[in-house]
Amino acid sequence: MANPQLTVVDHPLVQHKLSLMRDAATSTAKFRGLMREVSLLLAYEATRDLPLEQVEIDTPLERARFPILAGKKLCLVSILRAGNGILDGMLELLPSARVGHIGLYRDPRTLAAIEYYLKLPDDLPERDAILVDPMLATGNSAVAAISRLVELQARSIKFVCLVAAPEGVARVHGVFPDVPIVAAALDRGLNEHGYILPGLGDAGDRLFGTK
Ligand code: URA
Repeated sequence: MANPQLTVVDHPLVQHKLSLMRDAATSTAKFRGLMREVSLLLAYEATRDLPLEQVEIDTPLERARFPILAGKKLCLVSILRAGNGILDGMLELLPSARVGHIGLYRDPRTLAAIEYYLKLPDDLPERDAILVDPMLATGNSAVAAISRLVELQARSIKFVCLVAAPEGVARVHGVFPDVPIVAAALDRGLNEHGYILPGLGDAGDRLFGTK
C-alpha cells in the first residue's frame, strides 16, 4: 500500500539530475552543483503546503489583493556533514530560513548514530523544521535527529533526502509515523555495510571529494 507520508518527487528534472549524480564518473564539482540544483527542486516540493495570506498590492494599473507567504517561520536543519550539500540549494530558495546543525556519525560496527554536535535556534518551538540528509539508509541518523527536534519542540518536522531505502523509511515511520518524508528516489535496499543500492555511494565523500 502506498505510504501517504512518503513523497517521491518524480519531476523529470529531479530524476535526470539524480541519475547524473549516481554515475561514479561524475566529478566532485559536478556532483556538488547537481546536489544544489536537486535540493532547490526538493525545497519547492517540501514547502508546497506553506500557508498564504492575501495582501493589497498596487500594480502599475490598479490596487488588488494577492497572496504572499503568511510569515511562516522555517528552520532548515542539516545532519552533518552531507546534509550541508542539500542546505546550500535550499537556502537559495529560502534565504530567510534559520539554520541548525546536528552532527551525527555512524558507528561502523553497529551502524548506530552517535551525536557529536548540536546547534539549533533558540526559538525552535516557533519554527517548522525541515531536516535534511542526502541518504536515508538505516534511518538511525534520521531517528536520532528527529528525536532531538521533538525533544526541543520544533513546531513541525519534515525530512528531506535525495535517496531513501525502504528500510530507512520503515524505521523512521515506525518511530515517527507522522513525519513526512520527501525524497528524489526510493531505491532497492541496503547492503551489509548499510549503503543504499544502487544508491550513489557515500554522499559526504562524493560531495567533499574525501575519497
Ligand atoms: N550514507 C551514504 O552516504 N550513502 C549510503 O548509501 C548510505 C549512507
